[in-house]
Amino acid sequence: MLSYWEQQSFVSYHHIVIGAGIVGLSTAIELKQKYPKQSVLVLERGLLPTGASSRNAGFACMGSLTEILDDSQYTNEDEILKLYEWRKRGLELLRTRLGDDTIGYKNNGSYELIGDAELAALDKMDYVNELLLPITKQPAFKIANDKIDSFGFNRQHIKTLIENTCEGELHTGKMLRALTDYALMNGVEIKTGAHVTRFEEEDKCVTVFIADGLRGEELALQCNTLSICTNAFTKQLLPDEDVVPGRGQVLITEPINGLKLKGVFHFDKGYYYFREVDGRVLLGGGRNLDFEGETTTDFVLTDLIQKDLEAKLRAIILPDTDFKIAQRWAGIMAFGKTKQPIVKAFSKRVYGAFRMGGMGVALGSDVARQLVSMNRD
Ligand SMILES: Cc1cc2nc3c(=O)[nH]c(=O)nc-3n(C[C@H](O)[C@H](O)[C@H](O)COP(=O)(O)OP(=O)(O)OC[C@H]3O[C@@H](n4cnc5c(N)ncnc54)[C@H](O)[C@@H]3O)c2cc1C
Repeated sequence: MLSYWEQQSFVSYHHIVIGAGIVGLSTAIELKQKYPKQSVLVLERGLLPTGASSRNAGFACMGSLTEILDDSQYTNEDEILKLYEWRKRGLELLRTRLGDDTIGYKNNGSYELIGDAELAALDKMDYVNELLLPITKQPAFKIANDKIDSFGFNRQHIKTLIENTCEGELHTGKMLRALTDYALMNGVEIKTGAHVTRFEEEDKCVTVFIADGLRGEELALQCNTLSICTNAFTKQLLPDEDVVPGRGQVLITEPINGLKLKGVFHFDKGYYYFREVDGRVLLGGGRNLDFEGETTTDFVLTDLIQKDLEAKLRAIILPDTDFKIAQRWAGIMAFGKTKQPIVKAFSKRVYGAFRMGGMGVALGSDVARQLVSMNRD
């Protein structure tokens, strides 16, 4: 039961966006910039964004050599180039919008660790460099073996180090905080703790239903257009879409005295990633150890993966160093049959951008721009 006042002032919006991750917030910002006089509301089910955007590794992620070669087995060169360029555009937009200092963007170097199993990838490095050259304007990958010892890695595991000249890093927390502030500053309204249970499209509007435990009844909000930016959780609202959740588990050490490594690092086709942050090592991945178990939207840690991450930290990354784990967490990504994100108009009122894989930090801003460029008039 709504009051007269609530009905007058809190129920109708021009545009509603579901999800306050990087894609939802960027979509709201784009909407406000395109329609400055119209109201834009973001609905987020968590008190904090509760998906991937606040829980990732903060790679300004362009993809490693073995990851791109792995992709080339399932997709053609055009698609690989399209996705690479998309990430580049997304990062440029994010950096221009918020500023490098604000989001902690740095280019401290990006590297891939190559063990015996991946040595064959080196034969294809020139081919990939050539393929990407129209976008990168310089070879994306080069050998950097002179740095293996200076980073302190275990030589028994690492045969070659490949430098990725196009990839940087950012501070995930600062970035999402700044994006939220930027949205608010631009007049976007954000409601957290607002779990959208369903929507109904009518002729003249879309009605969005939100669970409201306190009132004991659903709250129904109306809008002219709805944008669904719910990534791994999209099937609840759009059950026919090809979206499969994939959990990513992460750990971070306490600060390590004299830590040698700096920059961001991948290995095993991008399934593992680690970086230096605030004198600590953040390490994540291992989803490939248990694809079935990690196909979930549960924010839970498993012994299998956490122990594997610790073992790799000890054996490969920090072989001669004592460390303590400070924190562990999980985030949920979204995958599908292809690596391309879904950016789509479902009707003239309902739109969606989701399935960002492990690349949403890079893709998110430009994906949102494309979503809002779809005609809403
Ligand atoms: C561990 C980990 C490491 C990663 N590392 C990187 C990296 O280094 N570089 C990179 O580019 N990418 C990385 N990614 C991927 C990247 O974080 C995601 O692709 C990106 O954050 C997706 O953004 P999004 O806005 O689409 O989704 P999300 O951030 O998941 O946002 C979706 C939001 O929708 C909300 N929501 C869902 N359903 C509803 C509903 N019914 N009602 C209201 N709200 C709802 C959720 O609570 C959530 O906040 C990583 C991801 C993980 C998990």
